[in-house]
Amino acid sequence: MPDHSIPYGRQHITDDDIAAVAEALRHDYLTTGPGVAAFEHAFADYVGARYAVAVANGTAALHLCTLALGVKEGHRVITSPITFAASANCVRYCGGEVWFADIDPDTLTLDLTRVRELIETHPPGFFHGIIPVDFAGYPVNMEAFRALAEEHNLWIIEDACHAPGGYFHDSEGQKQLCGNGQYADLAIFSFHPVKHIACGEGGMVTTNDPALHEQLLQLRTHGITRDRSIFVGEDHGGWYMEMQQLGYNYRIPDILCALGLSQLKRAEAGMARRQEIARYYDLAFADLGVAAGAKPDPAVKLIYHGVPEGNLLHAFHLYVIEVEDRKGLYDYLRNHGIYAQVHYIPVHTMPYYQKIGYEEADLKVAEAYYSRALSLPMYPSLTEEEQRFVIETIEAFVNG
Ligand SMILES: *Cc1c(COP(=O)(O)O)cnc(C)c1O
Repeated sequence: MPDHSIPYGRQHITDDDIAAVAEALRHDYLTTGPGVAAFEHAFADYVGARYAVAVANGTAALHLCTLALGVKEGHRVITSPITFAASANCVRYCGGEVWFADIDPDTLTLDLTRVRELIETHPPGFFHGIIPVDFAGYPVNMEAFRALAEEHNLWIIEDACHAPGGYFHDSEGQKQLCGNGQYADLAIFSFHPVKHIACGEGGMVTTNDPALHEQLLQLRTHGITRDRSIFVGEDHGGWYMEMQQLGYNYRIPDILCALGLSQLKRAEAGMARRQEIARYYDLAFADLGVAAGAKPDPAVKLIYHGVPEGNLLHAFHLYVIEVEDRKGLYDYLRNHGIYAQVHYIPVHTMPYYQKIGYEEADLKVAEAYYSRALSLPMYPSLTEEEQRFVIETIEAFVNG
C-alpha cells in the first residue's frame, strides 16, 4: 500500500509549467494581454477549430454560449442528466427550461434515439437547442446530432470538458476532433485541475462561426467594444468605447493562460498515458472475469467502460466502472487510501431541479447507471505501481 492517498484525478505540474508562469508575471500584462491570444490560438489549433475564446472557467464558457445563442425565457434545451450540473445550469442562467433525455447504456452519453423521441412528441419549434456532453471522454457522434438539429432547426453546444484531443470518424471517414466546430455551433472546455489541461481555473469556447466568435468576445468583457467600425453612437475620441449589450467579466488572466499553454505542449503525451492506463485496467478487469460494456446482469459483479471498439479516440477524462455494491467498493477503496469518485449524481435528481418539476422524470438508464457508477484513478502521473495497487484492491473486494 503506497504511503499516500490516490485521488481519481489530479493535475500534473512540471518545472516548465512553473517557469512559464514565472515568466508571465514579468510581462506588462497580467490579464487581457498577448498570453491570452497565444493560448487561444494554440488551443484552437489543438482541437481543429477556427476560433477559441479563453474565459474564467468552464461554467462561464457555457454561460457565454447560451448568451451568444440568445437563450431566454420560453426556450427549451435538451441535455444529459449524467453530467456536471453546469451543462444544465447555463440554460437556467438565461431563464430557459432544461429538458433531460436519457443516456445510451453503452456510451453513457446522450441517447440520440431518446432525444429524437422527445423532439418528435412535441410540436414543431418547441425545442431550441441540444447540449450533448462527451461524458468521461467518449466522443459523441456530433454528425448524427447535427442531422437531427438540422431537421428541427436547433443549435448545438458540445460540452467537451472531458474530451480535448478525443475524436470520432464521420460518415465520410473524416477524423472529427471533439470541439472542432464542424458540427456543433459552439463547444466548451474547462481547465479545472482534474481536467486534461489545468490552469487552476479556466475555460474555453471554440467555434467556426465568425459572428458567434464576435459575440463571445464582447460578452466576455461586459458587452463592451472598442471596434470603431461597429460603433452605434458618435466617436468622442481615443478613449471612446461602447457597451452595446449586457455582458460579464469572464476574462482569464495571462498568468493562467501561460500555464495552460505550457500544459498544452504535453497534451499528446498526457493523452497517450491515459490510453495506456485505460488498457491496463481493461486487461486486469477482463482477467477478473467481469463484463465489458453496460450489460446489467446481477450475476456480473463489475462492468467496465474501457477502450471502446471502433474508429474513435476516447479521451479518458474518467475511467468508469459499474459495480453492484458501489457503496461497499467506494468505502473499501477509501479505507485503502484510494479516493474513487462518482460521476455524476444525475442532475435532474438534485433538489433544485426536483423543485422545478423533475420528480416524474423517466430517466431509467441514467438512474441505473448512477446506482452502480464509480470513477477509478485516471491521470497521466498515476504510476504503474499505484495502478497495480488500485487493481489489486478491487480484485480483493470483488473476490470477497
Ligand atoms: C468541469 C466541467 C464543467 C465546468 O467547468 P468549470 O471550469 O469547473 O466551471 C462543465 N461541464 C462538464 C462536463 C465538466 O466536467
